[in-house]
Amino acid sequence: MMDADFFRRWMELAAAAVEREADRLTELDSAIGDADHGSNLQRGFAALVAALDKEETATPGAVLVLAGRQLISTVGGASGPLYGTLMRRAGKTLGDAAEVTPAQLAEALRAGVTAVAGLGGAKAGDKTMLDALEPAVDALGESFAAAAQAAERGALATVPMRARKGRASYLGERSVGHQDPGATSSALLIAALAEAEA
Ligand code: ADP
Ligand code: MG
Ligand code: MG
Repeated sequence: MMDADFFRRWMELAAAAVEREADRLTELDSAIGDADHGSNLQRGFAALVAALDKEETATPGAVLVLAGRQLISTVGGASGPLYGTLMRRAGKTLGDAAEVTPAQLAEALRAGVTAVAGLGGAKAGDKTMLDALEPAVDALGESFAAAAQAAERGALATVPMRARKGRASYLGERSVGHQDPGATSSALLIAALAEAEA
């Protein structure tokens, strides 16, 4: 079972990973976007950690809803509302349980990923964060480590894809051969989940 502490640790580890990898995320975004993905997420996750310090979050759902709200209001760009929706929808799906099982988290994240697809209109293979998130959610039933591996593989698999959504899609064929920044940050988020468990 995982309680609010576990979820706060997950968010803190995700923030640390974003901080560590911000330059790489921005570099990836400079190849097929506008070179701000690292700094967008750095700003958002810093605000998220500050909000978790300040506001009471008694349940896993409350942690994720607060995280989503912070990401929506501070990240900006396409990824802010999308990551914010992922977290908020997952948090709302968990409801007000004090502790949740891995299966409940898997179900909640699946609802979050479905909401991201609904908001952004992307599907698997469009070279977006969904290419890491969908396989991760599919593997969550097995273990968090398996989900982290699936997300990492999913991010790598975006390299040969042609972008069909977001800023990178303006490049058409020229988006081929570059790893998607959002899929890369999604892999960091799921790796942080596996790290929180360890
Ligand atoms: P922006 O493109 O507005 O500068 P970011 O650089 O922060 O925003 O985020 C870019 C990432 O957002 C992309 O790499 C991609 O993974 C993700 N993204 C963009 N549009 C969509 C969409 N419609 N659906 C899912 N993910 C998307
Ligand atoms: Mg960008
Ligand atoms: Mg931008």
